Amino acid sequence: MQITLLGTGSPIPDPRCAGPSTLVRSDGTAVLVDCGRGVLMRLAGAGLLPPMLSGVLVTHLHSDHLTDLNDVVTMHWVMNPQPVTLSVFGPPGTREVVDATLGALAPDIRYRLAHHADLTEPPSVEITEVTPGDSFDVGAIAVCVAATDHRPVEPTVGYRLEEGGRSAVLAGDGVPCAGLDELCRGADAYVQTVIREDLVRQIPNARFQDIVDYHSTVEDSARTAARAGVRTLVLTHYVPPMAADGSDEWRALAAQHFAGEIVLGGDLTTVDV
Ligand SMILES: [Zn+2]
Ligand SMILES: [Zn+2]
Repeated sequence: MQITLLGTGSPIPDPRCAGPSTLVRSDGTAVLVDCGRGVLMRLAGAGLLPPMLSGVLVTHLHSDHLTDLNDVVTMHWVMNPQPVTLSVFGPPGTREVVDATLGALAPDIRYRLAHHADLTEPPSVEITEVTPGDSFDVGAIAVCVAATDHRPVEPTVGYRLEEGGRSAVLAGDGVPCAGLDELCRGADAYVQTVIREDLVRQIPNARFQDIVDYHSTVEDSARTAARAGVRTLVLTHYVPPMAADGSDEWRALAAQHFAGEIVLGGDLTTVDV
């Protein structure tokens, strides 16, 4: 199983970091988890084009995790030589967002259907709204769903992906909680979006300070990893952006609480588990 951080950024635009998105590949199956800014550029950087995606998992409906869903839908549609349904899984509310996205794309869909004689069907998107405790397969990968705690954003979910005896948890945004601990129990990898509370606290902006109470800090993620006995902790969604030479500092904060492998780095950082 291979995990690639497609986008390690946050809502704040950054010339080096795409928006939150992670790719998990195993036994020929490719699952996209969230689809933030620039996701398809980074997907191409990872060697994949949209028709090669097996499915999309959405952790929650915050815009930074969804900005480029429209691009995924459109390119999965027009780059497939035959009509292929795109499977999208997400918490309740996902259907509303996908339907609205398709609504916004309506003129584009009309133009392309009118122009390309061999394009006869509009995009086909199968939406599955999931709740904690659900499990399903995406290609060769078995997925189970747990609640996360990103309140007041609700509902939010994390996913555990398993294939060939390997497992990876994609937690999305949120603070530590019992459900996340359980989802992570004994996993080979745990991917957590994180903030640096020590740095955020130095930025005198009330709206920015608000992010502290509903995200895991680097230390929180390390404590979750230790409690759950995961093998590899993968950090992403760096707020504030990680300086080009700053990974040692972030790693040291996590290493105070977690003795296992810690992976972090810029876009397209890849780890095999
Ligand atoms: Zn969020
Ligand atoms: Zn986020």
